[in-house]
Amino acid sequence: MLDLLLPQRCVVCAVGGTQLCDRCLRDLPRIGPPLCERCGAPTAWPVRRCRECAGRRLAFASARAAVYYDVALRAFVVGWKERGLRRLAAAAVEVVIEVVPPPAADVVTFVPPDPDRGLKRGHHPPRQLAEQLAEHWELPLAALLRRRATKRQRGLSRAERRRNVAGVFAAAGSVPRSIVLVDDVFTSGATANAASSALRKAGARRVDVITFARVVR
Ligand SMILES: [Zn+2]
Ligand SMILES: [Zn+2]
Repeated sequence: MLDLLLPQRCVVCAVGGTQLCDRCLRDLPRIGPPLCERCGAPTAWPVRRCRECAGRRLAFASARAAVYYDVALRAFVVGWKERGLRRLAAAAVEVVIEVVPPPAADVVTFVPPDPDRGLKRGHHPPRQLAEQLAEHWELPLAALLRRRATKRQRGLSRAERRRNVAGVFAAAGSVPRSIVLVDDVFTSGATANAASSALRKAGARRVDVITFARVVR
Protein backbone atom coordinates (compact mmCIF):
# COMPACT_ATOMS: atom_id res chain seq x y z
CA MET A 1 0.00 0.00 0.00
CA LEU A 2 2.72 2.44 1.05
CA ASP A 3 4.51 1.53 -2.16
CA LEU A 4 1.71 3.07 -4.18
CA LEU A 5 1.35 6.24 -2.19
CA LEU A 6 4.94 7.35 -1.77
CA PRO A 7 6.71 8.98 -4.70
CA GLN A 8 9.07 6.33 -6.05
CA ARG A 9 12.80 6.88 -6.20
CA CYS A 10 15.56 4.58 -7.37
CA VAL A 11 17.02 3.10 -4.16
CA VAL A 12 20.53 3.34 -5.61
CA CYS A 13 20.75 6.74 -7.38
CA ALA A 14 17.51 8.42 -6.18
CA VAL A 15 16.25 9.31 -9.68
CA GLY A 16 12.46 9.66 -9.54
CA GLY A 17 9.78 7.43 -11.00
CA THR A 18 10.94 3.91 -10.19
CA GLN A 19 12.22 1.78 -7.30
CA LEU A 20 15.24 0.82 -9.41
CA CYS A 21 16.17 2.64 -12.61
CA ASP A 22 17.28 0.79 -15.74
CA ARG A 23 20.75 2.20 -15.52
CA CYS A 24 21.32 1.03 -11.94
CA LEU A 25 19.91 -2.39 -12.84
CA ARG A 26 22.34 -2.57 -15.76
CA ASP A 27 25.23 -1.42 -13.56
CA LEU A 28 24.72 -3.94 -10.74
CA PRO A 29 28.21 -5.45 -10.41
CA ARG A 30 27.80 -8.97 -11.83
CA ILE A 31 30.19 -11.67 -10.63
CA GLY A 32 31.91 -13.42 -13.53
CA PRO A 33 34.52 -16.15 -13.89
CA PRO A 34 37.15 -17.15 -12.99
CA LEU A 35 35.72 -18.37 -9.71
CA CYS A 36 36.58 -20.78 -6.95
CA GLU A 37 34.74 -23.91 -8.05
CA ARG A 38 33.63 -24.63 -4.50
CA CYS A 39 32.67 -21.38 -2.78
CA GLY A 40 32.22 -19.14 -5.83
CA ALA A 41 34.66 -16.45 -4.71
CA PRO A 42 36.16 -14.52 -7.65
CA THR A 43 39.74 -15.66 -8.16
CA ALA A 44 42.64 -14.78 -10.48
CA TRP A 45 42.24 -18.13 -12.27
CA PRO A 46 39.86 -21.08 -11.83
CA VAL A 47 40.66 -23.08 -8.67
CA ARG A 48 38.96 -25.96 -6.88
CA ARG A 49 39.38 -24.37 -3.46
CA CYS A 50 40.47 -20.79 -2.80
CA ARG A 51 42.24 -19.03 0.05
CA GLU A 52 38.87 -18.19 1.55
CA CYS A 53 37.49 -21.72 1.71
CA ALA A 54 40.55 -24.00 1.69
CA GLY A 55 40.74 -25.98 4.89
CA ARG A 56 37.17 -25.15 5.90
CA ARG A 57 34.64 -27.92 6.22
CA LEU A 58 31.89 -26.94 3.85
CA ALA A 59 28.58 -28.77 3.83
CA PHE A 60 27.60 -27.38 0.42
CA ALA A 61 28.99 -28.66 -2.87
CA SER A 62 29.08 -25.21 -4.45
CA ALA A 63 28.02 -21.63 -3.82
CA ARG A 64 27.25 -19.09 -6.55
CA ALA A 65 26.08 -15.49 -6.42
CA ALA A 66 24.95 -13.02 -9.05
CA VAL A 67 26.40 -9.71 -7.85
CA TYR A 68 29.04 -8.24 -5.55
CA TYR A 69 27.71 -6.78 -2.33
CA ASP A 70 29.00 -3.20 -2.48
CA VAL A 71 27.67 0.22 -1.42
CA ALA A 72 25.04 0.34 -4.17
CA LEU A 73 24.00 -3.20 -3.33
CA ARG A 74 23.62 -2.32 0.31
CA ALA A 75 20.94 0.25 -0.58
CA PHE A 76 19.32 -2.32 -2.85
CA VAL A 77 19.25 -5.07 -0.22
CA VAL A 78 17.96 -2.73 2.49
CA GLY A 79 15.12 -1.59 0.19
CA TRP A 80 14.29 -5.19 -0.57
CA LYS A 81 14.58 -6.56 2.96
CA GLU A 82 13.20 -3.71 5.02
CA ARG A 83 10.63 -2.27 2.66
CA GLY A 84 9.74 -5.25 0.51
CA LEU A 85 9.95 -3.25 -2.71
CA ARG A 86 8.60 -5.46 -5.45
CA ARG A 87 10.64 -4.04 -8.30
CA LEU A 88 13.78 -4.99 -6.39
CA ALA A 89 12.61 -8.56 -5.86
CA ALA A 90 11.94 -8.85 -9.59
CA ALA A 91 15.34 -7.33 -10.45
CA ALA A 92 17.14 -9.72 -8.10
CA VAL A 93 15.47 -12.70 -9.80
CA GLU A 94 16.31 -11.30 -13.22
CA VAL A 95 20.00 -10.87 -12.41
CA VAL A 96 20.37 -14.31 -10.80
CA ILE A 97 18.83 -15.90 -13.91
CA GLU A 98 21.21 -13.90 -16.09
CA VAL A 99 24.39 -14.73 -14.14
CA VAL A 100 23.95 -18.13 -12.47
CA PRO A 101 23.61 -21.21 -14.71
CA PRO A 102 20.39 -23.19 -14.10
CA PRO A 103 21.13 -25.85 -11.48
CA ALA A 104 20.25 -29.53 -11.74
CA ALA A 105 18.48 -30.53 -8.52
CA ASP A 106 15.42 -32.31 -7.18
CA VAL A 107 14.10 -29.28 -5.34
CA VAL A 108 14.66 -25.62 -4.50
CA THR A 109 14.52 -24.46 -0.88
CA PHE A 110 15.49 -21.31 1.00
CA VAL A 111 17.09 -20.17 4.25
CA PRO A 112 14.13 -19.60 6.57
CA PRO A 113 13.67 -16.34 8.47
CA ASP A 114 14.71 -15.99 12.07
CA PRO A 115 11.46 -16.54 14.00
CA ASP A 116 12.07 -13.32 15.94
CA ARG A 117 12.44 -11.18 12.84
CA GLY A 118 11.59 -11.04 9.16
CA LEU A 119 8.15 -12.55 9.15
CA LYS A 120 6.80 -9.62 11.13
CA ARG A 121 7.03 -7.60 7.95
CA GLY A 122 5.21 -10.29 6.04
CA HIS A 123 7.86 -10.83 3.40
CA HIS A 124 11.03 -12.83 3.31
CA PRO A 125 13.44 -12.09 0.43
CA PRO A 126 15.09 -15.55 0.31
CA ARG A 127 11.71 -17.24 -0.02
CA GLN A 128 10.57 -14.71 -2.63
CA LEU A 129 13.74 -15.31 -4.61
CA ALA A 130 13.51 -19.10 -4.25
CA GLU A 131 9.87 -19.16 -5.37
CA GLN A 132 10.53 -17.25 -8.55
CA LEU A 133 13.75 -19.07 -9.39
CA ALA A 134 12.07 -22.43 -8.89
CA GLU A 135 9.33 -21.37 -11.26
CA HIS A 136 11.82 -20.21 -13.86
CA TRP A 137 13.98 -23.33 -13.56
CA GLU A 138 10.87 -25.54 -13.53
CA LEU A 139 11.87 -27.18 -10.27
CA PRO A 140 9.61 -27.82 -7.29
CA LEU A 141 9.90 -25.50 -4.30
CA ALA A 142 9.75 -26.81 -0.74
CA ALA A 143 10.26 -25.22 2.67
CA LEU A 144 12.62 -27.85 4.08
CA LEU A 145 14.24 -26.03 6.98
CA ARG A 146 13.22 -24.74 10.37
CA ARG A 147 15.25 -22.26 12.36
CA ARG A 148 15.43 -21.16 15.94
CA ALA A 149 16.12 -17.58 17.04
CA THR A 150 19.72 -16.36 17.15
CA LYS A 151 21.66 -13.17 17.76
CA ARG A 152 22.08 -10.91 14.75
CA GLN A 153 25.03 -11.91 12.57
CA ARG A 154 25.84 -8.28 11.84
CA GLY A 155 28.90 -7.05 13.72
CA LEU A 156 30.11 -10.53 14.63
CA SER A 157 33.50 -11.90 13.62
CA ARG A 158 33.73 -14.88 11.30
CA ALA A 159 34.30 -17.36 14.11
CA GLU A 160 31.46 -15.81 16.12
CA ARG A 161 29.15 -16.03 13.11
CA ARG A 162 29.93 -19.70 12.72
CA ARG A 163 29.26 -20.41 16.39
CA ASN A 164 26.11 -18.27 16.36
CA VAL A 165 24.45 -20.26 13.58
CA ALA A 166 25.78 -23.74 14.40
CA GLY A 167 22.81 -25.96 15.14
CA VAL A 168 20.11 -23.34 14.51
CA PHE A 169 18.73 -25.10 11.45
CA ALA A 170 16.94 -28.41 11.31
CA ALA A 171 15.21 -30.12 8.41
CA ALA A 172 11.46 -30.46 8.76
CA GLY A 173 11.63 -34.15 7.79
CA SER A 174 13.49 -36.28 5.29
CA VAL A 175 14.67 -34.34 2.26
CA PRO A 176 15.43 -35.06 -1.42
CA ARG A 177 18.93 -36.09 -2.50
CA SER A 178 19.90 -32.99 -4.42
CA ILE A 179 18.90 -29.53 -3.24
CA VAL A 180 19.38 -25.92 -4.31
CA LEU A 181 19.48 -23.67 -1.26
CA VAL A 182 18.61 -20.01 -1.91
CA ASP A 183 19.52 -17.01 0.26
CA ASP A 184 19.70 -13.27 -0.37
CA VAL A 185 23.28 -12.45 0.68
CA PHE A 186 26.31 -14.70 1.15
CA THR A 187 28.47 -12.97 3.76
CA SER A 188 30.90 -15.30 5.54
CA GLY A 189 29.13 -18.43 4.30
CA ALA A 190 28.35 -19.42 7.90
CA THR A 191 24.58 -19.35 7.42
CA ALA A 192 24.69 -21.20 4.09
CA ASN A 193 26.97 -23.79 5.61
CA ALA A 194 24.86 -24.36 8.73
CA ALA A 195 21.67 -24.66 6.65
CA SER A 196 23.39 -27.02 4.19
CA SER A 197 24.68 -29.12 7.05
CA ALA A 198 21.12 -29.56 8.40
CA LEU A 199 19.96 -30.68 4.94
CA ARG A 200 22.84 -33.14 4.66
CA LYS A 201 22.01 -34.58 8.08
CA ALA A 202 18.44 -35.10 6.89
CA GLY A 203 19.62 -37.13 3.90
CA ALA A 204 20.62 -34.71 1.13
CA ARG A 205 23.64 -35.93 -0.83
CA ARG A 206 24.33 -32.62 -2.49
CA VAL A 207 23.46 -29.01 -1.64
CA ASP A 208 24.23 -26.14 -4.02
CA VAL A 209 23.87 -22.64 -2.62
CA ILE A 210 22.64 -19.77 -4.79
CA THR A 211 22.44 -16.21 -3.50
CA PHE A 212 21.64 -12.87 -5.05
CA ALA A 213 24.68 -11.04 -3.63
CA ARG A 214 28.02 -11.98 -2.17
CA VAL A 215 30.44 -10.15 0.07
CA VAL A 216 33.90 -10.37 -1.47
CA ARG A 217 36.86 -9.71 0.77
ZN1 LIG B 1 19.20 4.41 -10.32
ZN1 LIG C 1 36.62 -20.94 -2.34
